[in-house]
Amino acid sequence: MNPTPEIQQRINQLLGQLQKASYAYYVLDNPIMEDAVYDQLYRELQELESQYPELISPDSPTQRVGDKPASQFPSVRHNIPLYSLENAFNLAEFAQWEERWKRQSPSQKTAEYVCELKIDGSAIALTYENGILVRGTTRGDGITGEDVTQNVRTIRSIPLRLSLDNPPPVVEVRGEAFLPLDTFNQINQEREQLGEALFANPRNAAAGTLRQLDPKIVDKRRLQFFAYTLHIPNQNLNSQWESLEALQQMGFLVNPNRKLCPNLEAVQEYYQNWETERRNLPYMTDGIVVKINDFALQEKLGFTQKFPRWAVALKYPAEETPTIILDISVNV
Ligand code: NAD
Repeated sequence: MNPTPEIQQRINQLLGQLQKASYAYYVLDNPIMEDAVYDQLYRELQELESQYPELISPDSPTQRVGDKPASQFPSVRHNIPLYSLENAFNLAEFAQWEERWKRQSPSQKTAEYVCELKIDGSAIALTYENGILVRGTTRGDGITGEDVTQNVRTIRSIPLRLSLDNPPPVVEVRGEAFLPLDTFNQINQEREQLGEALFANPRNAAAGTLRQLDPKIVDKRRLQFFAYTLHIPNQNLNSQWESLEALQQMGFLVNPNRKLCPNLEAVQEYYQNWETERRNLPYMTDGIVVKINDFALQEKLGFTQKFPRWAVALKYPAEETPTIILDISVNV
């Protein structure tokens, strides 16, 4: 079916709205629309693009991972790209995701999953050389991030030296830098008193803090860090679960609420349990991340242009679905 001018017009409109929103969100750390609205517009664009692939524009937000890094920090190319995660917005979509990977690997009838909480913070990559922290970078657009080493060094839950007798020459660790809710509220109270703009959510506050030019301010804000990915060249790790345990032994804080699930039903139970339980946590979560445990199967499934095929973010519905876009008149 040929696209009508109305369809092209709607796509252009979505591109414009999403581009402005994503600039405000990733670069200014100051969102202009609710996440649920962003996700809804993004989905609409994705659906139109899959119906009319000839209308996919190379600058569409569906064609890249995050946003361009801001310029005040030196940029660093990631050794291994920092991919985003595919989203599932309910259990039915999670089941579809499972069917999809099983179709890709028909000999595989079942797989163990590692369920982790999806912490609402900012992803960072840490490089250790001979056991010493030498670099900390933001995700940026997934290919290139910003070098925020000085700021990362202020995070107490990030070891400056790995707790290992014979550290390998290079170790790369990834995880989420985040602000606990009480710190987030305290920072916003202080900002209110000073007449400064408030942070919209802990994730933007964490991202904004990581990009502070003055490490002393970062230090005062007390960011925390949960580690979730470990890369060691020529490593002999076999699974995500093993990696998480190794990270803990190396001195990292690993979220204790992880669970090894033998099948889809166990994932469903974990998801449903944390939908209410997460309100008792001292930090924000917006879903769970489900990863295939076995590294051999992960390798077999590989990546799309944007996502690993072996992991999915299973999100919780927004507390109340906002229907309005707050303001999209930001200058880009
Ligand atoms: P995402 O937040 O949906 O998922 C990927 C991220 O999850 C990773 O980069 C990592 O930072 C994080 N994560 C947390 N815990 C993890 C764990 N245990 N394992 C692995 N990763 C974990 O994807 P994204 O590409 O970072 O952001 C897209 C989302 O950002 C959208 O869904 C939207 O809600 C929001 N967004 C909002 C606006 C807006 O204007 N409100 C604009 C742009 C994007």
